[in-house]
Amino acid sequence: MSTLQITDLHVSVGDTPILRGVNLTLNSAEVHALMGPNGSGKSTLAYALAGHPGYTVTSGSVTLDGEEVVGMEADQRARKGLYLAFQYPVTIPGVKVADFLRHAVSNVRNPDRKEGGELISMREYRRELYERMDELSVDRAFARRYLNEGFSGGEKKRMEILQMAMLRPRFAFLDETDSGLDTDAVNVVSEGVAKLAAEQKMGVLIITHHDRLLHYNTPDHTHVMLGGKIVESGGADLAAELYTDGYAGVRDRHPEVA
Ligand code: ADP
Ligand code: MG
Ligand code: MG
Repeated sequence: MSTLQITDLHVSVGDTPILRGVNLTLNSAEVHALMGPNGSGKSTLAYALAGHPGYTVTSGSVTLDGEEVVGMEADQRARKGLYLAFQYPVTIPGVKVADFLRHAVSNVRNPDRKEGGELISMREYRRELYERMDELSVDRAFARRYLNEGFSGGEKKRMEILQMAMLRPRFAFLDETDSGLDTDAVNVVSEGVAKLAAEQKMGVLIITHHDRLLHYNTPDHTHVMLGGKIVESGGADLAAELYTDGYAGVRDRHPEVA
């Protein structure tokens, strides 16, 4: 069992404070939904957790099984088992999907691996990659394509989930991984996340504006962010309520941050 504990986290972008004291504890095998209106700071939390250099932690702490994560490079966090599926996946021209993933998997499975160090065996890797691709309905031909180059929105998102399946993180943050997908793709991605979460006892923080992803991944906990703080927490019923009623009620209850 692993625990990711976020304590009184303050994060600035440039000189602007965005997160103003976030407290949140994730355990293995738990699904947390993070909701809140646009601009409330959800992506900022995801980026800060992943160690994006543009997001400065000005105070507070994030510990993974007691070890401080703030100050670690993004790459080191990935090796420790944190994974962020970005809202806008990047394109890396000239790097093939299969090569990118083999390097990423090698780094995560062998935390002491140096740049240029030994990669996981091609045979073992290929077998696992194809197995995962088949499960996630990703055409095997994608392995030979350049990462995200010319991929549709849905293809990029599937790649993110494939990457997650291969990396087997302890905690994954999904920032609107389902946005811009057609219904079939949302179902594949949602089922994929649920399966991985169950198989690998992964802790998941899901940020979404749709209820499909949460339909497959019923949240154990739902949190509402407003003005850079988590102002309310509850169970799956809170998520359902917010999808139906929107955020007016939450804003009314928290005029100090709304
Ligand atoms: P959400 O994901 O909940 O929509 P964000 O975390 O993207 O919210 O944004 C929270 C606030 O931080 C917004 O007011 C946004 O304008 C601001 N913000 C986020 N990223 C940046 C940035 N790179 N530069 C300036 N402001 C930013
Ligand atoms: Mg559970
Ligand atoms: Mg966002």
